[in-house]
Amino acid sequence: MHIRTRFAPSPTGFIHLGNLRSALYPWAFARHNRGDFILRIEDTDLERSTQEAVDVIIEGMAWLGLDIDEGPIYQMQRIDRYREVIKQMLDDGLAYPCYMSEDELNHLRDQQMANKEKPRYNGLWRPEPGKTMPPIPEGIQPVIRFKNPIGGSVVWEDAVKGRIEISNDELDDLIIARPDGTPTYNFCVVVDDLDMNITHVIRGNDHVNNTPRQINIMRALGGAPPVYAHLPTVLNDSGEKMSKRNGAMSVRDYQKAGYLPEAILNYLARLGWSHGDAEVFTKEQFVNWFDLDSLGRSPAQHNPEKLLWLNHQYIQQADPVQLAEATKPFAHELGINTESGPNFVEVVALLKDRANTLIEIAEGAKLFYLPPPDLSKEQIDANIPAAVVPAFIDLIEAIREAPETKEGYGAAFKQVLSQHQLKMPALAMPVRYALFATTQAPAIDSVLVVLGKEEALNRLSKVVQ
Ligand code: GLU
Repeated sequence: MHIRTRFAPSPTGFIHLGNLRSALYPWAFARHNRGDFILRIEDTDLERSTQEAVDVIIEGMAWLGLDIDEGPIYQMQRIDRYREVIKQMLDDGLAYPCYMSEDELNHLRDQQMANKEKPRYNGLWRPEPGKTMPPIPEGIQPVIRFKNPIGGSVVWEDAVKGRIEISNDELDDLIIARPDGTPTYNFCVVVDDLDMNITHVIRGNDHVNNTPRQINIMRALGGAPPVYAHLPTVLNDSGEKMSKRNGAMSVRDYQKAGYLPEAILNYLARLGWSHGDAEVFTKEQFVNWFDLDSLGRSPAQHNPEKLLWLNHQYIQQADPVQLAEATKPFAHELGINTESGPNFVEVVALLKDRANTLIEIAEGAKLFYLPPPDLSKEQIDANIPAAVVPAFIDLIEAIREAPETKEGYGAAFKQVLSQHQLKMPALAMPVRYALFATTQAPAIDSVLVVLGKEEALNRLSKVVQ
């Protein structure tokens, strides 16, 4: 079988990170099976769909490297096709016009509720052999309803949830077209999944109630239902459903906060799927390992600390040249001119082991590019103790003479330390402070190489003038 999956987002409202997990799994399943992955934009809710949301989805997927084989296909561009199928269903007796007005429907519902019955359409306009139909009222545009099978049940083997069986008595005749002829959501999904030859529908748990209805329509249209896999919900770190209101972030927000796409992809992969105890893996490994059997059944919980930890892992492992490229926009944002001064790749290589985000690398890089703040006499006295000043002055001279390498500067330190009977921190801390006005900086010998001898000597001499 040639596997075809799809991601079918509704571009309404805010697209958070959890939403993109619903893109990742069908993508991975298609890639694992050398099948096709289709992006379908379900934009028929004209009031709530926005171009902004479409952009967030498409950019987010591109950033994560979720390449698509077909699409984006917009449902709004397929309206004629849906109308054509509705017409065919009317002709074939699979659907029928229903003239029940809103008021009548409400009245029916109230009665059913009063009788403690489940509110449902009573089939008044459903044609049956030998049934006398009510007279068609004038001036009412009918809705079109699907003739749901009566009796029996819909059964499917959900790849995540196992066997599910829903009695047809639970399902009333679904409206497939509104009075103005526009098709409804569940109907469009079925037509699309059929037309696009989708073999596996991998989607959020919130759609599980739609599935029996969709299967019935699909069978009526002569199609074979695909395999369904309903993914457990993603909860936020407080255990609530993820939403913008309770602080969920979009992929774009994570990009702006200095996360690497590889880290996000790895993180999302583990939100509801596992492979043994593997936590850090490449995209290729993920695709190789991905199968529907290893999808979790219980809700996945968002864990921001874990995401930050993963980001740190990816930053540490990253190739400095690529990491520097990725960090540049953040550095520019902070007013750093990466083209003048120390070599930016070297600066990034020096800072990456301690950084959790690209912003942290850029912040660290400021020390090397922006002029150090002028230190007050109090600051100097507090951080460069008088007892250390003679050694400090000797060190300036030793650095001036030293070869411009890590080893060269290391030897300069060693010589001055032994001469003055001092331990490394006693001298390294004041030197860091004199260079950067902070003691938080990487290994001092490497710092001197990257900063450059001239700039280092300028900064060091200033505090002992
Ligand atoms: N458009 C639906 C949503 O965004 C998904 C429908 C589906 O995957 O079948 O929730």
